[in-house]
Amino acid sequence: MDIQARLDEIDELGLTRRMRLVSGPQGPRVVLDGKPVLLLCSNNYLGLADHPRVREAAADAAMRWGVGAGASRLVSGTMTVHRRLEDALAAFKDREATVLYGSGYLANIGVVSALAGRGEVVFSDELNHASLIDGCRLARAETVVYRHNDVEHLAWCMQQAGRRGSVVVTDSVFSMDGDVAPLAEIVELAQRNGVRTVVDEAHGTGCVGPGGRGAVADAGLEHEVDVVVGTLGKALGAYGAFAACDAQMARFLTNTSRSLIFSTAPPPPAVAGALAALELLIEQPRMVSKLQANADVMRTELAAEGFEVAGSTTQIVPLIVGDAALAMRVCEAAIERGVFAQAIRPPTVPEGTSRLRLALMASHTKAELREAAQALGRAALHAGFRPGAGVPLAAAQNGNPTRPPFDSVAA
Ligand SMILES: *Cc1c(COP(=O)(O)O)cnc(C)c1O
Repeated sequence: MDIQARLDEIDELGLTRRMRLVSGPQGPRVVLDGKPVLLLCSNNYLGLADHPRVREAAADAAMRWGVGAGASRLVSGTMTVHRRLEDALAAFKDREATVLYGSGYLANIGVVSALAGRGEVVFSDELNHASLIDGCRLARAETVVYRHNDVEHLAWCMQQAGRRGSVVVTDSVFSMDGDVAPLAEIVELAQRNGVRTVVDEAHGTGCVGPGGRGAVADAGLEHEVDVVVGTLGKALGAYGAFAACDAQMARFLTNTSRSLIFSTAPPPPAVAGALAALELLIEQPRMVSKLQANADVMRTELAAEGFEVAGSTTQIVPLIVGDAALAMRVCEAAIERGVFAQAIRPPTVPEGTSRLRLALMASHTKAELREAAQALGRAALHAGFRPGAGVPLAAAQNGNPTRPPFDSVAA
């Protein structure tokens, strides 16, 4: 690997990434590289990451159980705090069991690779999150990528795969587009074909559905989906993740899921923080409706500025710009105007669909959102992007971040 040549290439494509320094917690307003801005790209959707009760729970847990978990839970035992959170999450998700993982990334690679064996086929939506894609890569099975949310194409792929079909994997709320998978149709199709379902609720948990129980619960499919993966790092404000499933599946994952078996358990303060966040979510379900109301306000305000926002129905609102370098310029111009919405470029999103990905928080005020939309409108013009001239979402959905779309069963 010629590292310098690769870095130069990334630079020429306008795809260089660097981290910006944020002072203080991930609240609705932060200080970014020394400049105060409205934060519009954090997944701390409900403001629970810095909620006093969540902080206290994490601090208490550190004093009581220490900072690190010491080993994999299969080696040195599960701690009481992990067991407590697993029980609370299972009750919340109305499933027999949940299994905690170190992160959503680890959960997805561990679940998908465990469920899809050699000689089998896993079906994956073309806009799935990178962690699901990596789970498919790690699995010994073949992967067939179906067109985004296209149930007819999925049906065709399943027909081609015949008896080799093993599992279909999809985001529920898509992380970069904010649209929702047609879960009822996918589950029905999968069941008809004897195929299991794995649904990634990273952006569904705490954000959509009854009391923030996710898109699977919204569709009444809690007992139909084989594994629901959720992260503790986004709406639940901590770190770690879980797989919600029946008791047999939980035993299967505990015995076969390598990212669970061969990785240290999540730290007790994060686990206790997530548990406190979950209790707050159950006590105050209005946080969820406030978040979605804020997303509605944002879409309305952005439309008034001439932006295309069709497609998103959730707290994730993409402003598709198209060109990667142009998206970066809009992002920088917005920061100068006091709004931080990170530009998202390939390979996170398909070529030609670079965007500002807006992530709403329940704690944003309407006035802040109106000002932000106006600032984004001015930033776009300043950067030479005419709002509304972006790639419409439908056209943006032909590419896959890391693989070409498949028309037939292929590796
Ligand atoms: C963020 C994300 C993950 C990974 O979760 P982490 O807990 O951050 O590792 C998985 N799936 C989707 C759709 C995500 O957006």
